[in-house]
Amino acid sequence: MRKKIVAGNWKMNNNLNETIKLIDDLKNEISSVDVKIMIAPSFPFLRKAVKQIDDFGIEVISQNVNDNDSGAFTGEVSAKMLKSIGVNTTLIGHSERRAFYNEEDSLLLKKIKHAIENKMNVIFCFGEELSDRKSDNHFDVVKNQLDSTVMKLEKDLWKKIILAYEPVWAIGTGETASADQAQEIHEFVRGCISKRFGSVISNNVSILYGGSVKPSNAAEIFSKKDVDGGLIGGAALNAIDFSKIIEANR
Ligand code: PEP
Repeated sequence: MRKKIVAGNWKMNNNLNETIKLIDDLKNEISSVDVKIMIAPSFPFLRKAVKQIDDFGIEVISQNVNDNDSGAFTGEVSAKMLKSIGVNTTLIGHSERRAFYNEEDSLLLKKIKHAIENKMNVIFCFGEELSDRKSDNHFDVVKNQLDSTVMKLEKDLWKKIILAYEPVWAIGTGETASADQAQEIHEFVRGCISKRFGSVISNNVSILYGGSVKPSNAAEIFSKKDVDGGLIGGAALNAIDFSKIIEANR
């Protein structure tokens, strides 16, 4: 059975006090549900967040990781550093990293392999631009993104992979893919994985949807059979909205 997951990507928001408050608010709002909950605060606050969450049942994850072990990489953070503070999962390939920091598939594949070698789990983000969708190219774009990254992994590494389909045109724009548009891509991706690695892997990999998920649209999107939860940006910065989105998975 695939695990339902709701992950909050806090991006470059919140100072230390705001981070502490948001975690406190989440602990008050979230009731016990059969959904894996993750939050991704900024790097400086990860250790504090891990301690504050303690055994509450929310996993603290990172928004990024470098592809090297250590060395002269000013401003970067390694998987070993993250592991040493209790962070065991990282986002890789978010569209903002691809767009603003020129992270291309070849680098993303190195990051994925490096994170997994260090026993981290990876939430790998992919998704088409608006121009790709308008020109009806979205299936090809998504397939290419996957073919040049996760599809190159050894079969046994897939247990460390969670996928997040995030159409770029829906991220932070208020524009959401319809539940049917999300389902269509998720089913397509699961089919590609099945062809390459077989049905056990394709049936077990969680595929999250991300892109302007809100309390008002979460239940419909999450009701689709190949949508296993969400990666949430803006709405994850509000404890009430985020907990409503988590509950929409029921
Ligand atoms: C994201 O950044 O991963 C995201 C889905 O953002 P938003 O929910 O704000 O569209």
